[in-house]
Amino acid sequence: MFTSLSDRLTSTFKNLRSKGRLSEADIDATIREIRRALLDADVAVPVVRDFTASVRERCLSAEVSGALNPAQQVVKVVNDELVSILGGETRTLRFAKQGPTVIMLAGLQGAGKTTLAGKLALDLRTKGHTPLLVAADLQRPNAVTQLGVVAERAGVPVFAPHPGNQGAETDDVVGDPVAVAREGVAAAATREHDVVIIDTAGRLGIDALLMQQAADIRAAVDPDEVLFVIDAMIGQDAVNTAQAFLDGVDFTGVVLSKLDGDARGGAALSVARVTGRPIMFASTGEKLTDFEVFHPDRMASRILDMGDVLSLIEQAERAFDAAEAEKMAAKVASGQDFTLADFLVQMQQMKKMGSMKKMLGMLPGMGQMREALDNFDEREVDRIEAIIRSMTPAERENPRIINGSRRARIAKGSGVRTTDVNQLLERFAGAQKMMRQMNKGGGMPGGMPGMG
Ligand code: GDP
Repeated sequence: MFTSLSDRLTSTFKNLRSKGRLSEADIDATIREIRRALLDADVAVPVVRDFTASVRERCLSAEVSGALNPAQQVVKVVNDELVSILGGETRTLRFAKQGPTVIMLAGLQGAGKTTLAGKLALDLRTKGHTPLLVAADLQRPNAVTQLGVVAERAGVPVFAPHPGNQGAETDDVVGDPVAVAREGVAAAATREHDVVIIDTAGRLGIDALLMQQAADIRAAVDPDEVLFVIDAMIGQDAVNTAQAFLDGVDFTGVVLSKLDGDARGGAALSVARVTGRPIMFASTGEKLTDFEVFHPDRMASRILDMGDVLSLIEQAERAFDAAEAEKMAAKVASGQDFTLADFLVQMQQMKKMGSMKKMLGMLPGMGQMREALDNFDEREVDRIEAIIRSMTPAERENPRIINGSRRARIAKGSGVRTTDVNQLLERFAGAQKMMRQMNKGGGMPGGMPGMG
């Protein structure tokens, strides 16, 4: 996400760094480059204009010229302004004081509403809530069935009194979605669900009928939150679509979906400023766990390649088994060897955190290693796991006992070449040696032990 924008901005700043003092001409050249980078990323023109105007004004002030390191100060100004156009503060869900909290989802067809319903439900359930999903999209073929599937995966019930549009023959709304939404909220109240999430229809383009239906649902259920879901990949159209939904239905927050795509992502950078509504969540993949609270400051930091270590830590906390981690730490601290069996456990925990590529991308400075990151093959982790699994427990504890014929046998068992097994064992021996040195108090010699 934001790959090319991020690359462009960081290289602009790199050029500045070689200069001690910054002249007005330096600042103007920088602003020009920032403007071009934003426009190429599909950020809306008025947003770019505001952005560059405030950056320029601040860069020409004493704040930058008087700073010890003006180039660094420029980065700070750009960071502040990015946080500002992304909405400033993080905004979390508002819950009803009484009765179930009603969350309505709106957006174009294919934006990712149904998927989001599942993600939100899973996230809320994990936090101790008891959400109910309501199937009020009676227009898109099989939308009701799809919501049922998503609900089951999220482990939450679904309220679907009407089967909706079950075939591709019609493009019409079947049944009464307003009634379904109203009954859904009533059902949640009697069944004591504390949150109701209403999925609504969204045609392929903005149409008056769709807007009216969404507005009617809104009027009928008086939601605490109306979340407008927008596909970050739709580029320039994002602003017009958002404006149409703002005028037609109005919403309290924005959800950016498909932020995992390689899109230019300008939608993300325009929508909050243009609509005056906060971006509350980001959807970053097809799995129900590919979902995060949107933090403007952390996103700015990612764009400027300063990393998002906080989100990384949070993901780790969610995925890691604390007891297992403690056991491992105690083992290493006591001077015992870190074995391939331990390595296997760690790898499984890492996999629970999600895509390695996504995780690595959150580290500061990874922008400069983009190529390596792009070439990173997720399947490598599976291959290593398969190799370790093909070893006996004794071999995992002490790989030195693995001779030539066992290596060939392990390779066959795990579907790799013998050289792959050799390579893993060599790298592991190196990592183990490094861990021993670290244990003796030698610090970290030149990088992380691991898969290299
Ligand atoms: P709806 O019509 O708004 O309900 O959209 P859906 O939830 O059915 O999503 C449309 C398509 O986009 C489906 O194939 C989803 O799997 C996919 N999708 C939804 N969210 C994401 C996301 O964050 N990333 C990616 N890559 N795909 C997504």
